[in-house]
Formats: sequence, structure tokens, C-alpha cells
Amino acid sequence: MNAILITIVIVLIVVIVNMSVLTFRKGNNEKQPYEKKFYSLGTIMTLTVYGKKGEKAVEEAEKKIMSIDDEMSVFKDYSQVSRINRNAGGKLLPVSEETYFVIKKAIQFCRMSKGAFDITIRPIVGLWGIGSDHQRVPRQSEIDDKLKFVNYKDVLLDEKNNSVGLKYKNQEIDLGGIAKGYAADQVKNIFLNKHIKSALINLGGNVFAMGKKLNGQPFKIGIQNPLSERGDFVGIISVMNKSVVTSGNYERYFKADGKRFQHIIDPRTGYPSESKIISATIISDLSIDGDGLSTGVYILGINKALNLIQSLNGIEAIFITEDKKISVTSGIKDNFQLCNEEFILEE
Ligand code: AMP
Ligand code: MG
Repeated sequence: MNAILITIVIVLIVVIVNMSVLTFRKGNNEKQPYEKKFYSLGTIMTLTVYGKKGEKAVEEAEKKIMSIDDEMSVFKDYSQVSRINRNAGGKLLPVSEETYFVIKKAIQFCRMSKGAFDITIRPIVGLWGIGSDHQRVPRQSEIDDKLKFVNYKDVLLDEKNNSVGLKYKNQEIDLGGIAKGYAADQVKNIFLNKHIKSALINLGGNVFAMGKKLNGQPFKIGIQNPLSERGDFVGIISVMNKSVVTSGNYERYFKADGKRFQHIIDPRTGYPSESKIISATIISDLSIDGDGLSTGVYILGINKALNLIQSLNGIEAIFITEDKKISVTSGIKDNFQLCNEEFILEE
């Protein structure tokens, strides 16, 4: 009798365990997202994909991001950008279509921001070394020496031959303010080709919300409180198929002599921007636009920044200034939900 009871109990346990494994597998395939974190382009990237082909799509996207880093990083000797920089003052060098496209796009943002965004800022960025192990406040004479070489108008482009050069020796370009946006757009295209309908692409704060969440709702994106720890939001927006890119004072900085020095440099002074904007978020269809613009308008100051973004079609912005005021452009006003009473939403 006892033996029969024990057998029944064992059979029941096996059935229950099998059922739960099956349920878990089903959930894993159809309901659970596939998520991967990795390091590239100087930041942590998180790709979250809903749907069956998630893992394959993420693998391909990761390879793509790594290849963009290989071509465009100033920290890799063999990158195309490093070759252009070493060759400054010499002949134009042929580069990939991708590198050419990003540099050409970047120059448009340099023009649009009247030189607040300037990819020839690299010699100054290198001097400060913000975020590296040799970060320091440079002497004024060092800044003056390098500032002479900062001028995006000296980037030479030959469209026919996909070639790029720099007019004078010692000039250097830096695509750190725009490459992540380009990478986010490329990841989105890979996901579209793989028929992925829903994904969250987060390249170190450079977010693209693709499609809707599984429950049919738009993605909710938190706008980081620039005066607090990561994960503490001042507000939330709901978006579908939009890029949300923030340039913030909290991304990379160091403190010296009781002062805080953050990584976005004002090309007029050679010092970290003191525009009073401490966070600039751009909402756009293309992430390359959001990335180039967010870095540029951060430096422009609130009035010029608002005017520039209001003049552009299909682009919205959220700015936070150091006095804890939040300004949003008209197209995103109804969408922005303030969730921190310490901040004041400007009318
Ligand atoms: P982001 O995080 O997109 O705002 O870009 C910041 C990065 O862009 C910095 O870490 C620098 O590599 C680069 N950068 C800093 N200042 C400028 C500037 N005025 N124009 C273009 N790129 C800049
Ligand atoms: Mg940027």
C-alpha cells in the first residue's frame, strides 16, 4: 500500500515539474524579453528585445556596434578617425561610407549650432581627459595653444571619393558626441530587418524605443535627475518609435578645487560648458539627430537652445537648468509628466 502511495506521489511530482518547465519555456519565448548588456563606445549598452528572434537580432546588433566603435573611436589607433587625425594637414583619406556619413552629418550640427557643437574639439577634450585616468584642470596657456586648432570649417570633405581630411597639422576630430546616436539608428534597422516589433535600445542613455510594449502601451522613458543618483527621475515621457537622447552633466565629470568639471566643452572657451543647462534631452525620429543636437544645445544656453529646437520640424526637447527649472518644447508638453516636486516646470 505504502509503495503504491509513494509511486503516485513521485508521478505527480514529475508531472508538476514538467508542466512548470513547459510554462517557463513558453513564457521565455513569447513573453519574456531577451536582454543583453555589454560595453562599447565608451559606455554600457543594454539591448532589450521582445519576440522569438531576439537573441539572434541582438547578436547581430552587438557586432554592428563593435564595428562602429572600431571605425570611429579616437581611443583605437587603427580606427578611421585616428588615421584622419594622424594625417591632419596632409591629403584627404578615403573612409567607409558609414564614417563619411557620420562626419558629414556631424558637420551639419556644427553649422546648425553655430559652432557650439564642433567635432574638431578633440585636442581640448584630450587635454582635460575627463573620465580618463589622467583627468586634470589644464593651464590656460595649454588651452589657448589647443583652442587655435578648433574649427569645424577645417574639416575637408570629398563626397565623390568618400574622403576626409583636416586642413592643419595638430587638428583632431572626435565623434564621441554623435556616434552613439548613429549606432542606435543602425541597431534599429537591424531589428526591423529581423522583423522585431518591440525593443528598447539603450546605448548609455541614448535610448531608442521601438514599437510598443507587449501590453500595447507606449514605452515610458524616465528623464534622469541631473542632481541625483542614476535611476532617480525628474519626469517621464511615453514614446513609440522615437529616439530619446540626453546630454547631462552627470555622465562624465570630475571634481577639483571644490568645482565640478563635466565632459561637454564650450569651443569658445575651451572649458566645460557653463551655459546653466545641466541636462538636454532631444526627442526625435533619428537618434543621430538627437545625439548631435543634445550635445550642441547643451552649450547654447536655454534661450538659444529653445529657439533652435522650436525651429526644427519633428524634434522636441526637455531642458533642465541648474536652478531646477524644466523647459519643454510645445510638442512634448502634454506628454511630459513631472514626478519630482523640487523641480519647477516652466510655462
Ligand atoms: P554626449 O555624451 O553625446 O553629449 O557627448 C559628449 C562627448 O562629445 C564628450 O565626451 C566629447 O567626446 C565630445 N564633445 C565634448 N564637447 C564637444 C563639443 N563642443 N562638440 C562636439 N563634441 C564634443
Ligand atoms: Mg551627443
